[in-house]
Amino acid sequence: MEFCSLFSGSSGNCQYIKTENTTILVDAGLSGKKIQQEIVNIGEDPKKIDAIFITHEHIDHIQGAGIMSRRLNVPVYANKKTWDAMYPYIGNINPENIKILEECAEIGDLSVMPFDISHDSAHPVGYNIFYKNKKISIVTDTGCINELIINKIMNSDLLLIESNHDEDMVLIGPYPWPLKRRVLGEFGHMSNDTAGDLISKVVKRGTEIVLLGHLSKENNFPQLAYKTVENILKENSIDVNPGICLEMTYRDKSSKIYEI
Ligand SMILES: [Zn+2]
Ligand SMILES: [Zn+2]
Repeated sequence: MEFCSLFSGSSGNCQYIKTENTTILVDAGLSGKKIQQEIVNIGEDPKKIDAIFITHEHIDHIQGAGIMSRRLNVPVYANKKTWDAMYPYIGNINPENIKILEECAEIGDLSVMPFDISHDSAHPVGYNIFYKNKKISIVTDTGCINELIINKIMNSDLLLIESNHDEDMVLIGPYPWPLKRRVLGEFGHMSNDTAGDLISKVVKRGTEIVLLGHLSKENNFPQLAYKTVENILKENSIDVNPGICLEMTYRDKSSKIYEI
């Protein structure tokens, strides 16, 4: 199985997962044109996409979903509440491509299972993606971490996790107070410190690939996110590079392609 983060950040999110005969996207939060171009840039074919899975209805996760579904005749999967919330923004798509997903979808040789997270949207989810005995987990846009999330992402072979902001940067930064409260609140976003604590709870074998994503443009920068998480892992006696593979994803370009 291959994983590539095409884009990750508060300005748009799209993750690409491929096996021998199945290709899916998780979120399509930039224009359809940009996403298709980036798929070509990594040497792949947008026409091979079998399904798009949506985490929640915010524009940085759905912007290109409707146009891609229409252009490529691809089904879009989301739970009922998310569909209700995003339908006006997606535009008319073929009714056969509207897929309500509450528990598990089998797409070719992939199993895709959503799990609940905590965010200010209708019914936000993270995803587990299984292929043979391998597991990818994606968890962004969550303001708090609970036992369910920890259990779901435990022992992933590859984990994409939000490292949205530095709490001090939010507090002294330019956001108005209600927005600061939203970002820092339990239905907001995960800080660098929270990401570090969470990763240290869920990596067990020491061979996992952990990617930091969904960085805020205003309240974070990549080196700060990376160093904060790396320091927390070291404090918890977890080796990094060599040890777990800890790397960044990017708001405006694709990551490496990871083989799992
Ligand atoms: Zn988001
Ligand atoms: Zn969001």
